[in-house]
Amino acid sequence: MNRVRNFCAGPCTLPVEVLAETRDELLDYDGSGMSLIEMSHRSPEYDAVHGDALERLRSALEVPAEFDVLFLQGGALLQFAMVPMNLLPPGSTAGYVRSGAWGKAAHADAERAASTYLAWDGTDAGFTRMPEPSEIEVRPGTRYVHLTSNETIEGIQLRSLPDLAVPLVVDISSDFLTQPVDWHQVDLVYGGVQKNLGPAGLTVVVIRRSALDDSVAGLPSYLGYAGHAKAGSLLNTPPMFSVYVMGKMLRWIEDRGGLAGMAERAARRSGVLYDVIDGSDGFYTGPARPHARSRTNVVFRLPSPDLDGRFLAEARDAGLVNLKGHRSVGGMRASIYNAMPDEGVDELAGFMRNFAQGAG
Ligand code: PMP
Repeated sequence: MNRVRNFCAGPCTLPVEVLAETRDELLDYDGSGMSLIEMSHRSPEYDAVHGDALERLRSALEVPAEFDVLFLQGGALLQFAMVPMNLLPPGSTAGYVRSGAWGKAAHADAERAASTYLAWDGTDAGFTRMPEPSEIEVRPGTRYVHLTSNETIEGIQLRSLPDLAVPLVVDISSDFLTQPVDWHQVDLVYGGVQKNLGPAGLTVVVIRRSALDDSVAGLPSYLGYAGHAKAGSLLNTPPMFSVYVMGKMLRWIEDRGGLAGMAERAARRSGVLYDVIDGSDGFYTGPARPHARSRTNVVFRLPSPDLDGRFLAEARDAGLVNLKGHRSVGGMRASIYNAMPDEGVDELAGFMRNFAQGAG
């Protein structure tokens, strides 16, 4: 077996232990004579897996009792539409923070579904920082302000949620379970699990029950949160494989200190890479302002784009893959989600130092 260090922005690397256990159970789940993914989603076996994953997620993310956890499909992208459809009845509005490509995309979709406004725009700052709380416009009658806690493409992150006069809705797709959520401030958070928690196909929505009770009625069944909550996220066939593997990943996270352990890892490991950037005498540059640097997506540039191809080829030879930055920003991006081993980060740091010496 020759596993590489995979710095993909998502889907991401998963722990070997989790993959191996999944493989071992694939043909015969718990003596049933079939795989879990061949079973009915109404079977007692799947029911146990589903309930266990819900409970583990609730506990890992420290979700208070007054919130419901929903397992959905359609990615964070579907939430860009479902959030306004459910939370914005006619006559209400919401503010959207355009902090980067994903915040911008969330706003564009919300505008198609309901009335919204731009509460802050980071375009002029080149998406190199997040807003200060005082910079976020909250108009009268605002139902919620939408934030993207970590902009995956630009590599910038909110270190804490702002205390605004209205509830927040937060896209936590790319820093899911790497820093705590301040539940006092939010009505809803959502994220796909394919970066920090498991395989693609499952989107988690955590919604305050009072927001659920006030949500827009009469939507087509899949699009309304209330129906999913009432059915315990078994309104229709759920993404069983993703739920099943996420349950294993959550156990793996628990064994490593849970949320606190993951937050410590994210701070420490991103620090290792930012130290290389800052200690490279300007060879590497990171566009993000220091206080806004993402702990899950470390974005950096080489002195000239002419060196990008060589950097990527030599990194690949060293077993370090998927370091190319998003095509819209160029440069490099190392995504270091929960399952990335410390050794992967150390190997990348060593490679970056050597490369700068060789090319500098
Ligand atoms: N929001 C953020 C912050 C993301 O990083 C992504 C995916 N890269 C999305 C939304 C879209 O997520 P999905 O592919 O799950 O729809």
